[in-house]
Amino acid sequence: KSNKKLGLTTKIFIALILGAICGVALYYWVPNGTFRDEILINGVFYVVGDGFLRLMQMLVVPLVFCSLVCGSAAIGDTKTLGKVGIKTVGFYMLTTALAITVALSVGKIINPGIGLDISSVQQAETTVAEATNFADTLLNIIPKNPLQGLAEGNMLQIIFFALIVGILIAKMGERANLLLKGFTQFNDLMMEMTSLIMNVAPFGVFCLIAKNFANIGFDAFLPMLKYMLSVFVALGIQCFVVYMLFLKVTTGLSPVKFIKKFAPVMGFAFSTATSNATIPMSIDTLHKKMGVSKKISSFTIPLGATINMDGTSIMQGVAVVFVAQAFGITLTPMDYLTVIATATLASIGTAGVPSVGLITLSMVFASVGLPVEGIALIMGIDRILDMTRTAVNITGDAVCTTIVAYQNKDVDVDVFNEEKEVVEID
Ligand code: ASP
Repeated sequence: KSNKKLGLTTKIFIALILGAICGVALYYWVPNGTFRDEILINGVFYVVGDGFLRLMQMLVVPLVFCSLVCGSAAIGDTKTLGKVGIKTVGFYMLTTALAITVALSVGKIINPGIGLDISSVQQAETTVAEATNFADTLLNIIPKNPLQGLAEGNMLQIIFFALIVGILIAKMGERANLLLKGFTQFNDLMMEMTSLIMNVAPFGVFCLIAKNFANIGFDAFLPMLKYMLSVFVALGIQCFVVYMLFLKVTTGLSPVKFIKKFAPVMGFAFSTATSNATIPMSIDTLHKKMGVSKKISSFTIPLGATINMDGTSIMQGVAVVFVAQAFGITLTPMDYLTVIATATLASIGTAGVPSVGLITLSMVFASVGLPVEGIALIMGIDRILDMTRTAVNITGDAVCTTIVAYQNKDVDVDVFNEEKEVVEID
């Protein structure tokens, strides 16, 4: 029998392209007015796009909590969990530090800020982040009230509590049997719900992208092209060279297959600019298409969404070079090391939501004495960079997850290598 139905991956990809074309067309060719603004952009696109985003966000907390409880209960012994944890955090730190190094180097080669006429750039209001104390960031992992942590969607607190619950369930054995069964069934239910919601992903992605592109303000790009180009180049190197080398060298798995299978998740991250909302889709794709066990991904993916933002650090690295050049400030090698350290630390403990990278950027600037007004320069064009770096952020989490899972013998290599697109099982 012929199977003419397009797979979900292809549909999401088509939706992305069509959405971008539609958005650009609206921006350039459709005059402002009720049809464009009220009916399309703030009507249909907003409702369908944000409706879909909310559906995905709805899954995050219950899914992360249950799958993490089941995952840690399945691993059982604290030694293996500790090993996975240390490896993951180490890998996250390493890739972030590499990311900023790539960004600083690309910045130094392209020199985005030299010769910039600051007055030609549209400037916006800046928000400044309070520098958080590292001790408090650490303490804040322990929830005073786990229900509050769940209600607020505080990823690190949820992870902390869920890990303890899972470990103890494993330890209690028989006595917690019913509880384990309950969590497992609820976890299955959440995965079913993810598959169900994913069916509308192409419509959601189309609307989100069309709305974003219709609002993006391409005119503001012109004076900022070199800066944007530097960020894109550094993001590209990190995603397609650094990660893929890591994957190939540590596991021997095919980077091309990885990118092909993971692309829809990147597309979703791009359309929403929210790592957090991508967690369910990431876990689902890694599991179904790449054979990566949920035992590992249920821990490493939500953790990565919070503490591992390589794309964000790249933007921050390039922004440092750009603003220093634009304001004629010379940075010493020591300053660059400070930037690497602060940008790595700044990403820990901030949730993966839109624009958060701009807010933590003020901490990075403050650490080397760059003017905060510099942030106003890049704000106007940040949305498209935010979308792109979010795709890189979650790819870093997924690559690390695959590597750690592989080393733990938790990747089904046959599933990973399977060529044809797996149609959602329902
Ligand atoms: N939007 C990014 C994310 O959710 C964070 C950022 O760079 O602003 O991963």
